[in-house]
Order: sequence, then structure tokens, then C-alpha cells
Amino acid sequence: MDLIDVIVVGGGPAGLTAATYLRRFHRSCLVLDAGQSRVRWIPESNNCPGFPHGVSGPALLLRMQEQAASVQVPIEQARVDRIARDGESFELSAGERRWRSRRVILATGIVDRLPDEPWVAEAIACRAMRLCAVCDAYEATDLRIGVLGASDVVASHARFLRTYSRSVTVLPSDDGDGGEAGQEARAAGVRWLPAGGRLDFDGRRCVYTPPDGEPVELDTVYPYLGCDTIAGIAAAAGAELDDTGQVIVDADQQTRLAGLYAIGDVVSGLNQIAVAVGQAAVAATHAHNRLPFVARR
Ligand SMILES: Cc1cc2nc3c(=O)[nH]c(=O)nc-3n(C[C@H](O)[C@H](O)[C@H](O)COP(=O)(O)OP(=O)(O)OC[C@H]3O[C@@H](n4cnc5c(N)ncnc54)[C@H](O)[C@@H]3O)c2cc1C
Repeated sequence: MDLIDVIVVGGGPAGLTAATYLRRFHRSCLVLDAGQSRVRWIPESNNCPGFPHGVSGPALLLRMQEQAASVQVPIEQARVDRIARDGESFELSAGERRWRSRRVILATGIVDRLPDEPWVAEAIACRAMRLCAVCDAYEATDLRIGVLGASDVVASHARFLRTYSRSVTVLPSDDGDGGEAGQEARAAGVRWLPAGGRLDFDGRRCVYTPPDGEPVELDTVYPYLGCDTIAGIAAAAGAELDDTGQVIVDADQQTRLAGLYAIGDVVSGLNQIAVAVGQAAVAATHAHNRLPFVARR
């Protein structure tokens, strides 16, 4: 097995940026990717630096893959199931396949928990459902916005969304009133519907029908159902996770296991492309500086 300078696990914006930086430091590098980047859900991003007219997630990913290819970043389709320290290096595996590297950068992201409805992908594609208010609430300005989730979670999000629209409606999944945050949200003009209703999608927008109530049309709905961080392989290798399951890193994006870095959504509280690529630049540069010096021949 060749000893690669750095293996990057995950080929989303974070992983591709790290790999591009590493190749531009003349380091050997390999991206192992399961091909499920969150950006595939993005119909159009308007806060991604450098795209004044917006860019779709798939188009952005393609550009980042092209940029990585321009410096010969190899990308292999693989779902890594184990990372283990082996003396001074790491061994990674995906089923029967094995790789060795001096450093590892984990960029595996998160998986959103979505309503269990067959129409969810279609609703996201036409923006009747949105997953990230920081990303796209600006485009929902003055629309009729629904906020779906547990009463103790949704209140602060609903209040935040009042910045964008006077029509913000909570669709709670339980009978709680949201406590103090719920009071603040209602005081800010958020409408709070009874729990136990049904959420439908008519091909253009969502409709919530409360029990014994009239259907309420919503131009867009933000579900706040949480997410699952893909950090199990890092934890098994010796990295520390916080109580939300995200990987704890230092200012150089290094986990407590020296040589194992983590970047992007798997780490950050603010799940944004700009944050992911910034963390990638930091991790790649730190990893390069700590690898053995090689003078150009
Ligand atoms: C609907 C939607 C809209 C969004 N809009 C915006 C926006 O407008 N602006 C913005 O800044 N952000 C937006 N985001 C957030 C943005 O998509 C994420 O912040 C970004 O994708 C994080 O990049 P990442 O590289 O950390 O993770 P990801 O892009 O999720 O990439 C992780 C990669 O790692 C792979 N992987 C996971 N486990 C393994 C494994 N064991 N082995 C190998 N590979 C693995 C995955 O398959 C995936 O390819 C949006 C997200 C969603 C869902």
C-alpha cells in the first residue's frame, strides 16, 4: 500500500477544498467519497461567495470537482468504515479496501432528518420546503412561512424568521407551548397552530391542516427535526465529540488525535459552505506545515 500524505474522507465543499489546497502544496492526496453531499439538495444558493446570480448545489459541486481535477486530485467512490492509528500513520478501510496515509481530514458532513413524506425531495426542489434559514430565508422574504418541529425547538427559529416575514406560523409536533421562547415568538407576532395536524404538498406549496381546523396554505416550510452527524468513524478512531455529536477540534481543525482533522458540517455549528471551505483551508495548511519538509527538485 502506498503511503499517501493526506486522505480526505468526504468529497463535499469542505473535502474538495482541502484536497485542492493540499495538491497545490504538492502533497499527495486522495479523496474518498460516498457521493451524498448535502449540496445536492440546494436548488439555488444565493449566499455562496462569488455567485452574484446564485448557483445550484450540483453546479457548485461540479465546479469544485473540476477545480480539484485541475490539480490532479484523485477521487474514489468509497464509504470509509474505519480509521485507525497505525504507528505514525493511519489505516483506512471501506469493506475489503485499504489505504494508508500520514494524515486524515474528515469532511463527512451531516444527514438532515426530514419529514417522512414521499414528496419531500420535490418540495425542496421547488423551495416549498427549505432546510436552512441562514442560507435562504432572504429569498423567503414576505412569503407565508411555516416552521415545523418540536415546540421547545421551533420557537426561536420562528422568531428569527419574523425578520423576514410578517406571516410566520408554527406547526408544532407536540402540545408544548415553547416555554419562554414560545412566549417571545408569539409576542413577536408568530402564529402558533395546534399540534397533531397534517402537512401536505400540492405540487407548489405546503398546506397544514390542524385537527378540526381549516387548511392553512404556506409558501414555504422550514422543518427543524435535527440531523445526524457522520462522526462515528472519527469517534471510533479516538476523536472527541460534543453532546450534539459534532467533532471537537482545536483552532487548526485538529481533533484530540494528532493528525486527524475534521472540517465542515461534521464540526461546525454554522453549517454553511463558506464556513466549510474556510475550515478546509485552515486544516490543509496546518497539515502541510506539519508534514515532513520536501524541497522541490
Ligand atoms: C436544502 C439545503 C440548502 C442549503 N443551502 C445552502 C446555501 O444556500 N448556502 C450555504 O452556505 N449552505 C447551504 N446549505 C448547507 C451546505 O450544503 C453545507 O453546509 C455543505 O454542504 C457542507 O459541506 P461538507 O463538505 O461539510 O459536507 P457535505 O457537503 O455534506 O459533504 C460530505 C460528503 O462526505 C461523504 N461521506 C459521508 N460519510 C462518508 C464516509 N464514511 N466515507 C466517505 N465519504 C463519506 C458524503 O457522502 C458527502 O459526499 C444547504 C443545505 C441544504 C440541505
